[in-house]
Amino acid sequence: MNKKKLVDIIVNNAVVLTINESDDIIKDGSVVIQADRILDIGKNIDINEKYQAKRKINARGGVVMPGLVNTHTHLAMSLFRGMADDLPLDKWLSEHLFPAEKKFVDEEFSYWGSKLALSEMMLSGTTTFCDMYFFEKEAGQATKEAGMRGFIGEGVVSEFGDEDEIFYNKIKLTAELLEKYKKNTLISIVVEPHSCYTCSKKILIKLKEYAKENNLLYIIHLAETKKEFDDVKKKFGVSPVEYLDKIKVLDEKTLAAHCVWLNDNDIEILRQRNVKVSHCPKSNMKLASGAAPIGKLFEKGVVVSLGTDGSASNNNLDMFSEMDYAAKLAKVTTLNPEVAKAKEVVRMATINGAKALGMENEIGSLELGKKADLIILDFNKPHLVPVYDYYSHLVYCASGSDVETSIINGKVILENRKIKTFNLEETIEKSNSIAEKIKTA
Ligand SMILES: [Zn+2]
Repeated sequence: MNKKKLVDIIVNNAVVLTINESDDIIKDGSVVIQADRILDIGKNIDINEKYQAKRKINARGGVVMPGLVNTHTHLAMSLFRGMADDLPLDKWLSEHLFPAEKKFVDEEFSYWGSKLALSEMMLSGTTTFCDMYFFEKEAGQATKEAGMRGFIGEGVVSEFGDEDEIFYNKIKLTAELLEKYKKNTLISIVVEPHSCYTCSKKILIKLKEYAKENNLLYIIHLAETKKEFDDVKKKFGVSPVEYLDKIKVLDEKTLAAHCVWLNDNDIEILRQRNVKVSHCPKSNMKLASGAAPIGKLFEKGVVVSLGTDGSASNNNLDMFSEMDYAAKLAKVTTLNPEVAKAKEVVRMATINGAKALGMENEIGSLELGKKADLIILDFNKPHLVPVYDYYSHLVYCASGSDVETSIINGKVILENRKIKTFNLEETIEKSNSIAEKIKTA
């Protein structure tokens, strides 16, 4: 009799959505995890013959799929959720968000706001995210405690204050973060100028130089609103995308959030430079910014991933809801129901997110040798019955609250909807007490 190989975890009785190149779906399937990686994927019967596990997790016929990748968010802004709604972006930023940030955002705000956001993401199927905010040292600490995979970047705004001093301070912080997390496989550091309307040309260029020297991603809000498009055109005579191209900050390591206001030449530039896009449909709808032309971007072969943006302009971090909106917004704005098909949208939230972050060889699909970042959804629920098409259900029926279990880097961080890595009650309590201070200020 053959001896079975002992492995760490087997997730069995699952419908395994691999999101691999051929979109293989394995019914009555199992995923085998050894340390931080996927060792095998197959039918229950075959996996049972080959392996015995220290731990078995029964998916009870539910879907097992790659953890979702949220490529654009502002974690700690969760503490501003619902504080200022129903406003256009420029007014929302200049009259509400920027003054509130100046007054309230500090280490404590960033730490607990990040933890609040991380809790919400863990409970809704996100396993990897890309954050842009302030006091990122605290966001990094919270991410480390959560056991999530995070891209952490100190947001740079140069319009208030001395730009040389701002540049020096932000680079110092970034360098400290790089040093702190150089051996951490879950946390990556990125360079994040806020936008071309809040950062000077000099800062934008210098940050790109720093990113290149250190082989880091360069992440920026781009062409989000008509106002941005018109202002840049007026000031520089070109569109926001053309402007960033002119100053040579666009390349394959640039991830641009929003990309709503694009002309045909802009789309061609994004394609040529291999810039990755983070599409944030709910934030764009809520701030009435417009609808990114994702159909056209797909046609050109531009990598379009999905982001929630911060909770102050969404107002949640549920990537299932984001998928639903992404599909429907693309359809209603083009009057074409064949744009943004469910299967494409699931790829946006998984493998395209991995590509946007340069992680496609490690995450974004369930394949042998990749990192074990996966989620289990409970499909024994009325709103998910019956099933004709799993992709359709993930986009149009499921929500983050259907996620039962989440595994990141081979570690179970959420089990039966309980966060295993930190105390959720304490996070909620601290978040409410910080909000209380904001309300009474
Ligand atoms: Zn944003």
